[in-house]
Amino acid sequence: MTDAAQTSNTPLNKVQQMKQLFAHRVINQVRQVIDLWRQLPETHWSAVAMSDFTLAVEKLSTSAKRFEADKHFKLASDLLTTIKPIKHGKTPDSEHLEQLNRLVRQLSETALRHGDDEHAEHLIPSKKPVYIAIDDTDTALTFAEQMQYFGLRSEVQKSSQDFIQALQRRHPAALVLDINFGGNGNGLLLAEKIQAERDQNLPILFIYHDEQPDIEHRLSAMRNGGIGLYRDVEIQSVIGELEDLLDNTPEDPFRILIVDDSKAQAMHSARVLNKAGMVAETVNDPLQVLNALSDNNPDLVLMDMYMPGCNGMELAKVIRQQREYLNLPIIYLSGEEDRQRQLDAMAEGGDDFLTKPVEPRHLLSTIKTRVHRARQLHQLIARDSLTGLLNHTHILESLQDQLQKSEDNNISFVMIDIDHFKSINDQHGHPVGDIVIKNLALFLKQSLRKSDPIGRYGGEEFAVVLPGANQEQACMVMEKLRANFSNLIHGGNKSLQVTFSCGLAQWQGESVSDLVERADQALYQAKHNGRNQVSAAS
Ligand code: GH3
Ligand code: MG
Ligand code: MG
Repeated sequence: MTDAAQTSNTPLNKVQQMKQLFAHRVINQVRQVIDLWRQLPETHWSAVAMSDFTLAVEKLSTSAKRFEADKHFKLASDLLTTIKPIKHGKTPDSEHLEQLNRLVRQLSETALRHGDDEHAEHLIPSKKPVYIAIDDTDTALTFAEQMQYFGLRSEVQKSSQDFIQALQRRHPAALVLDINFGGNGNGLLLAEKIQAERDQNLPILFIYHDEQPDIEHRLSAMRNGGIGLYRDVEIQSVIGELEDLLDNTPEDPFRILIVDDSKAQAMHSARVLNKAGMVAETVNDPLQVLNALSDNNPDLVLMDMYMPGCNGMELAKVIRQQREYLNLPIIYLSGEEDRQRQLDAMAEGGDDFLTKPVEPRHLLSTIKTRVHRARQLHQLIARDSLTGLLNHTHILESLQDQLQKSEDNNISFVMIDIDHFKSINDQHGHPVGDIVIKNLALFLKQSLRKSDPIGRYGGEEFAVVLPGANQEQACMVMEKLRANFSNLIHGGNKSLQVTFSCGLAQWQGESVSDLVERADQALYQAKHNGRNQVSAAS
């Protein structure tokens, strides 16, 4: 409950309470829309699935309008306008897919906002809870409290009986279950029983105490829906796993560049890709390939072998000459059946060779595997290995991108530096220092919007880009994070409390380096004024 809701019953608060209730309803409808959107490619855009999706968007639009949720109303209306020309039972083309993806993504961001939104406090609790079933009350409550700081809703179950009843009442998002809940090995037995009663496995994170579980227990945990086994002090790892598990932001659609001089062949491939929800750009003139690459930034190139002007092998070679495309997967799709020529083509920088006519299923699975790998690889290159956040170079690149995209000056850059980190290392050891760094990273990920780029700027320094936030809003967001972070427990050590200082600056149209410099100055001020505070650039 908010402070406002607790303090009085004035009519204003009734209005606020109503608003909260409506906000819940709107957010649930948003989730419904996103779920149905995800299922569409799986059904190959069947007429039924499409009409379910349309209906959900219409419902969202109606309630958003009634409850004056302007952003949701606008997005729902835009979605309806975009869906309208698509006949039910037909697959949208790349352009429509692109628009729809963008709108659904924006919608998903409205369902997971940070503290600058008046409804924000009430959005996350409407998510399904995580059930915690751990005998030791102290440990169970610590889990619940720490999860709350990360915006995860939980319910502590006191006994096996309560637990079973709660499961019958509603479906949790996941379980955090003691392998010995209610007796030695009983948690595992409970899990077996629970999973036997449902068609789909409920994800379970098993908890053990001092004694490492033996292989039989581990097997049993795995077979009964266990996605991990954690020691009771590994709260942050459990939270990290839950965060990945419960993240329902739709993934960016796969972008494929089709290079083929035959318009018919290119169109055919594009349609197959669209059916699977992928966005395809086609190029019929091979000499236009470099422009298309830089305009579209595709995940993969599907390349014809024989084209007038230049052939696929030459083109692949030219592409590979540019460093930024070194890891871009290139798949040849050609009538060439000669194995030796195929191998020669691959030696020139292709990754795979598919012979026309190719089965759509085969084409799609080859593309999916390659894109998946390429994205993983890119993650590794762009991200810091300790925290998974963007590294120094890439957070600055994202800042540049965001500034370019920004339609106004409402965008802020934030620098964060842990206070007295050196003495944390000195007193508790370097590994504990690393845990603190990981916790801050996870905490930032959980607390900010999915669309806010977050980076590890240096050792114990972090940077965040807040698109759409002016200086005042950025201050509010960061102030809340600062206060929450100081309550976190690190490495199970309750006496170790860590704070950070934060400097931020709103963009004034200056260069990236000048903006960073102003945020850095503000950070210096925060340190100078006594640490554990947020300071804004003047
Ligand atoms: P201040 O409040 O002024 O920021 O003081 P501080 O001690 O945090 O700042 P200082 O820059 O003097 O020290 C930062 C320390 O962070 C020094 C360095 O050894 C440590 N550090 C940097 N990277 C890592 C890391 O990845 N892991 C751990 N455990 N320590 C790190
Ligand atoms: Mg420092
Ligand atoms: Mg520091």
